[in-house]
Amino acid sequence: MDFAPSSLARELHERLTAFMDRYLLPYNAAWHAAVAAGDYPPPFLDDLKALALEEGLWNLFLPTLREDEPGTRLCNLDYAPLAEAMGRLPWAAEVFNCQAPDTGNIELLHRFATPAQRARWLQPLLQGQTRSAFAMSEPDVASSDPTNLQTTVRREGDALVLSGRKWFITGAAHPRCRLLIVLCRNADADGASSHARHSMVLVPADAPGVSIVRNISVLHHHAPEGHCEILLQGVRVPADHLLGDWGAGFAMAQARLGPGRVHHCMRTIGQCELALRLATERALERTAFGKPLAEQANVQEWLAESRIEIDQARLLVLHAAWLLDQGDAADARQVRAQVAAIKLVAARLQQRVVDRAMQIFGAMGLSPDTPLAAFWTWGRALRLMDGPDEVHLRTVARHELARARAGLGDSGAWFTTPEQMRAPPHLST
Ligand SMILES: Cc1cc2nc3c(=O)[nH]c(=O)nc-3n(C[C@H](O)[C@H](O)[C@H](O)COP(=O)(O)OP(=O)(O)OC[C@H]3O[C@@H](n4cnc5c(N)ncnc54)[C@H](O)[C@@H]3O)c2cc1C
Repeated sequence: MDFAPSSLARELHERLTAFMDRYLLPYNAAWHAAVAAGDYPPPFLDDLKALALEEGLWNLFLPTLREDEPGTRLCNLDYAPLAEAMGRLPWAAEVFNCQAPDTGNIELLHRFATPAQRARWLQPLLQGQTRSAFAMSEPDVASSDPTNLQTTVRREGDALVLSGRKWFITGAAHPRCRLLIVLCRNADADGASSHARHSMVLVPADAPGVSIVRNISVLHHHAPEGHCEILLQGVRVPADHLLGDWGAGFAMAQARLGPGRVHHCMRTIGQCELALRLATERALERTAFGKPLAEQANVQEWLAESRIEIDQARLLVLHAAWLLDQGDAADARQVRAQVAAIKLVAARLQQRVVDRAMQIFGAMGLSPDTPLAAFWTWGRALRLMDGPDEVHLRTVARHELARARAGLGDSGAWFTTPEQMRAPPHLST
C-alpha cells in the first residue's frame, strides 16, 4: 500500500496551489461581497473557470473520463491532495469544475446515462456550462433510510410522472442549475424488495410542475447555490429520462457516494489545516497575562491534538481512496465500511479542530473576520448531509460483526474455548 502521489499529481498540486494563490485569493473578498449583494455567481467566475480550463486544471476528479472528455483522469488517491488544497477556499472547487454535488452527479451520469442522456446532460456539466442537483431527502420521512422515500414516479404511456416534495437539495438555487436527479419510489413497487422499489429520473430544473419553495438556511447561513425545498407536482418527463433501470435507483445512489465522500473529506481536511494554521499564528501573536497564548499549556495541547487528529484522518481518507482505486480487486464491504468511517471521522474532526481554533481566537473566531465560523457551521452540517453519523457507525459496526460472524464456529474464530479467552495466545507460555 503506497499513498505517495504520482509525479503528475505532484505537478498538478503545485500548479493548482500556485493558481489559487495567484488568482483566487485576491478575489476572495470580491467573491464574498458579490454574494452578499445577491450577485451570484460573481461576474469574474467565468473568467477564472476559462483560465483554469486553459491551464488544464479542470475535472481533476474523474479517473474514468473518456479521451474526448476534458480532464486529468487522476485516480482517487492522486486527486485527494488536490481536493484538500481546494477545500481551503470554499468556492474554489467550482473554478476547477470539481464542486459537489456536480462531481457525484457527473460520476453517476458517466456510469449509467444513455448516449442521448450523456449528450444532453453530461457534456454541459463536464464543460462547466451547467450545474445540477441530487434530490433524495424528503421532509415527511426519515431520509437517512432511503427505503422510506415517498416521492412517486409512475409510468404513463411514454411518459414518467413524478409527485412529491424534496428538501435540502444542494445546488438547486444556482442560476445555472439545469438538472435535478430525483430519487423516487416506483408507483408499482408493491411486492418488490425494499432495495428495488426506487428509480432515478432526470428532471429538467424548469420542467412544468417543478417549483422551488424556499432556499433553507443552515444554522442561519444562507448558501447562494441553495439547500432547497422543492415541490414536484405531476411533473411529466419523457420515459427516456429514466436513469439506469427501473427499480435500480437505490443501488445507483449507493454507487454515487464513494468517491464523493473522499472529495468531501479531503476538502474538510483542507479547512482543518487552515484553521490550525490560523490558530497557531494567532497563539504566537496574542499575549495574555504577560505571555503569548502559545506558551499556555492548554493551548499547546489543543494545537497538538488538532495536528494529530488531522494527520490520522488524512491517512484514513487516503486509505479509503486507495481502496476505491483497487476497483473489483477490493472487498466491496470493506470499501463501504471505510467510506462510511471517513465521512464520520472528517465531520467530527472539523467540529473539534475548528472549535479549538475559535476558542484560541476569542470573540473574533465567531465573527465574519475569519473563515472559522463558516467552517464550523459546515462541519456541523456535515454530520447530517450524506447521512447522519449514526448511520455510518451502523455500517462500520455491521461490517465488523459480519467479519466476526463469518469466523464463528470454524478455525478462523480467535477464541474457540473459555481457556483461550482467559489466556490469550501472546501471554501463554
Ligand atoms: C447542508 C445540507 C445539505 C444537504 N444536501 C442534500 C442534497 O443535496 N440532497 C439530498 O437529497 N439531501 C441533502 N441533505 C439531507 C441529508 O442527506 C439528510 O438530512 C440526512 O440524510 C438525514 O436525513 P433526515 O434529515 O431525514 O434525518 P432522519 O432520517 O429523520 O434522522 C434523524 C436522526 O435519527 C437518528 N438516526 C437515523 N437513523 C439511525 C440509525 N440507523 N441508528 C441510530 N440513529 C439513527 C440520527 O441521529 C439522525 O440524525 C442535506 C442536508 C444538509 C444539512
